[in-house]
Amino acid sequence: MKVTILGCGGSGGVPMVGGADGAGIWGLCDPTEPRNQRTRSSIVIEADSGKRLLVDSGPDLRTQLLREKIGVVHAVLYTHEHADHVAGLDELRAINRMLDAPLPLYATETVMQELEARFSYAFRPWSGTGFFRPVPEPHKITLTDRLALCDLEVQLFEQRHYRIPTAGIRCGDFAYSTDVEHLSEDSFLALKGVRTWVVGCFQYEHMWLMPGSIW
Ligand SMILES: [Zn+2]
Repeated sequence: MKVTILGCGGSGGVPMVGGADGAGIWGLCDPTEPRNQRTRSSIVIEADSGKRLLVDSGPDLRTQLLREKIGVVHAVLYTHEHADHVAGLDELRAINRMLDAPLPLYATETVMQELEARFSYAFRPWSGTGFFRPVPEPHKITLTDRLALCDLEVQLFEQRHYRIPTAGIRCGDFAYSTDVEHLSEDSFLALKGVRTWVVGCFQYEHMWLMPGSIW
């Protein structure tokens, strides 16, 4: 199994667009350190068979796949519905063309509803020929499912991400926890024996929003 981290940045990426000179906002990150240029969070898990599972399709997906020379994936698993994890869904039409088939998408009922609302054109019935837009093959999951995807055994576990749940993912002795603030005891149990755990870290302080904020 091989894991490629396509991106590990916050929702705006690093640097964020802006800054007095238009060169971006780096926050506490050193602009002279190339590793501080961070795209939006996503990974690819590749089985020994060569089958690849894409986790999330953020707005940087196209450049990430080109950068890593990943020309095809065989399924997509969504951790949650935030835009920085789903906004690249349109780029998946290129994957459809490589596969010459609909692309299996795995998401919870809530996340699938959000995808269908934001990318309604992609979820219309497909004529069976041509990929002028993404053609998903939707599969609904729950956050405690054990799935056989892309020749991988994938164990999901529930995470809390402020107001919404997100999917934690375990494959063998590897686990991936993006956008997490809290794990239940059951979720920690699902991590038992993991040797490599990739965990998103956003800030030292507790995550909070102004009352009434929408995200
Ligand atoms: Zn998020």
